[in-house]
Amino acid sequence: MLTWINSPPSGGDRYLFVDRDGVINVDDDAYIKTVDDYGFYAEALEALAWLKARRVGVIVISNQSGLNRGIIAWDDFWAIHESMVRGIREAGGDLLAAYYCPHRPDEGCSCRKPAPGMILAACNTYPITPETTYMIGDRTSDLLAAENAGCRGVLLDRSADGTELAPFEGADGSFDRFPGLLEAVHSIFSD
Ligand SMILES: [Zn+2]
Repeated sequence: MLTWINSPPSGGDRYLFVDRDGVINVDDDAYIKTVDDYGFYAEALEALAWLKARRVGVIVISNQSGLNRGIIAWDDFWAIHESMVRGIREAGGDLLAAYYCPHRPDEGCSCRKPAPGMILAACNTYPITPETTYMIGDRTSDLLAAENAGCRGVLLDRSADGTELAPFEGADGSFDRFPGLLEAVHSIFSD
């Protein structure tokens, strides 16, 4: 598991888990391999700025098996990460932390979603109550990881934008579904 921890936040006690590819940026079946492959969703940047204004600690939980598959170079991976953080900050948002799983499915690790390892690691680092914390993602594996960690899963369904929703199976169906990150966070943090 790869962990990036930001400077401690100031005063907030609310947290949100988000997937990266397909949630913050446009996903690519051929993997996000370089900074040039990385394209933000404008509404996601807006959502992250909105969350920062409300002192919600946003934690990225992302499978990046392209690393151990040898498809994504390590230098490029961290360059993408740094570029993402910079872009989010320029738009007025921030991240509290990011957890990445570099493993291939056949490695049988405990961090690759749908395993809850990354979420549980974050819950050990921060005073997070899983039962009242949401995990937003665009795949079944995100909802299952949320379930397995005892969190509340939220499905981002961008199919209205022309993004094909990944085949969906296994999650228990008791999750909310939103067409974008901004709508999702407005609903979750409505107060
Ligand atoms: Zn892993």
